[in-house]
Amino acid sequence: MNYISTRGGIDPIGFRDSVMMGLGRDGGLLLPESIPDVSDRLSEWKDLPYVDLAFEIMKPFVDLPESDLRELVRKSYSAFGHKEITPVVAVDGIYILELFHGPTLAFKDIALQFVGNLFEYILHKSNRWLNILAATSGDTGSAAIYGVRSKKRIRIFVMHPHGRISRTQEWQMTSVPDHNVFNMAIEGSFDDCQEIMKTIFRDLDFRDRFSLGSVNSINWARLLAQIVYYFYGAFRVMEKTGADRIRFSVPTGNFGDIFAGYLAMRMGLPVCRLVLATNENDILSRFFNSGVYSLGNVKATLSPSMDIQVASNFERYLYYRVGEDPVRLKSMIQAFVDTGRLMVDPLPDGEVDDMFAAGSATNEITLATIKSFYENHGYLVDPHTAVGIHVGMQHLKKDEPMVCLATAHPAKFGKAIISAVGRDVARHPVIDGLKDLPTCCDVLRASVQEVREYLEERISGPTTSRTNRRC
Ligand SMILES: *Cc1c(COP(=O)(O)O)cnc(C)c1O
Repeated sequence: MNYISTRGGIDPIGFRDSVMMGLGRDGGLLLPESIPDVSDRLSEWKDLPYVDLAFEIMKPFVDLPESDLRELVRKSYSAFGHKEITPVVAVDGIYILELFHGPTLAFKDIALQFVGNLFEYILHKSNRWLNILAATSGDTGSAAIYGVRSKKRIRIFVMHPHGRISRTQEWQMTSVPDHNVFNMAIEGSFDDCQEIMKTIFRDLDFRDRFSLGSVNSINWARLLAQIVYYFYGAFRVMEKTGADRIRFSVPTGNFGDIFAGYLAMRMGLPVCRLVLATNENDILSRFFNSGVYSLGNVKATLSPSMDIQVASNFERYLYYRVGEDPVRLKSMIQAFVDTGRLMVDPLPDGEVDDMFAAGSATNEITLATIKSFYENHGYLVDPHTAVGIHVGMQHLKKDEPMVCLATAHPAKFGKAIISAVGRDVARHPVIDGLKDLPTCCDVLRASVQEVREYLEERISGPTTSRTNRRC
C-alpha cells in the first residue's frame, strides 16, 4: 500500500516512510491510496483473538514481511492487563468497550505500544536513530514514554507544563527510569510547550540534523492500530446480541479515535452511526450539527484530554468529505487559517454527514453521568468515557446496539470521581504503586533556545547513544 498526502504535495510513499514522516512534508496528512474493502472477510475474522485480528486488519496497509508484522503485533499487546486486550462489558442496555487495559491505563496505549515497536523495527532495518520530541498536557506523554521506553535507537523527550498537570500524570511520566527517557518540566503553559515544539520542528535543518520525530496523533500507524478495536468490539457485541449492525459512541478530542472508526466503517464493518461526543470544547460536535467548523477558545474541563479546539485529524476526514480533492481541501484549510472558519454543504437530506451524529456534555452532566452509572449499575467510568456515554444515550436506536468506548481507567482521574460520587472509589494498583517510585525530571524555562540546547547536549549525533542525565 502506498500513502498520499491530503494536500497532494508529495509523491506516493510506502508504509515505512509514511510512519517515519508523521506529518506530510507538504503540511498535509498522510492517507492510504485506497481503503481496502474487507466485508467478505468478516465471517472468517469474527472469532479471532485480538492479536490475530490485528494482524489481518493491518496486513493490507503494511509492507512488512508477514512474520515480522505478526511478531510486532504480538509484542505490542503482551503488556496488557486483560487477556482480551479490549473486552466488552454490558451495562444498562449499552456496551462498554474497555480500551484502558494497557500499561498507562488509557486507550492511547493501544496505538503507542504498537508504534514504539514499529519504530524500533524500522530504525533497526534502516540503521537509523530517532529522537522523539513531544509536548503533553497529560495522557499522551505517559503513553508515548511507555511505548518507547528501553527501545533501541530511540530517545524520547517529553515537555509538560511544570506544576500544571495532575500528580498522577506527572508521576506516570517521571517515574520511568529508562535511560532513553527525558522529562522536561517547562515553566509555562501547555500552549508554551506546544509552541516550542512547533518552532523546533519548523527548523527543518535542526530537525534533520538531530533526527527529530514525533508520536502525535497524526501518525498514520496510530490510526491503523486503532481500527482494530472497532472490529473486535463490533464482533463481540454482534455475537452477544445477534444484531447485524451497530453504533459506536466516541469521546473525541483530536478526531483520531473516531477517525479510526470511520475507516473501519469504510472498510466494510457494519456500523450505521458513529456518535461523536465532545466536552464543552465542542467545535467538532457543532460542525457535525451545522456544517460550520469555527474556532472557539479552549476551556479547561474535567476531561482534559479532549480540551482541544483544532482537531489535528479532522483534515483527514475533510479530505474524504470533499471527494478526495486536494485542491478543494487546500482552499478550505486556507479559509480556516484566514478566518477561523470553514463550511461544507449539507447532503441532500439536510445532514452534514449521515454516518455521524454528534453532541456534547458539560462538566455538570459528566459528573452526573459518572454518579448515576456508579450508583445504579456499580460501574465506574472516567470523565472522558462519561462524555461518550451521555451523548451515546441520546442516539440509541432499536436493533442497533450502542457501543461506548471507555478511553481511560477511572483511577487516572480520582479527583473527578470524588466530586462525582463523594468517595475515593477509583483505585488501580498501578496508580497506587506510583507514589513509591523515584522520579526524574529537568525543569527548563519556556524558551526555545533552552530546549534546543537541552536536546543538543543529549543527542551528540544521530548515530550515537550518548546520554546525559542528572538523575
Ligand atoms: C486522547 C484521549 C481522548 C481523545 O482521543 P482523540 O483521538 O484525540 O479524539 C479521549 N479520552 C482519553 C482518556 C484520551 O486520553
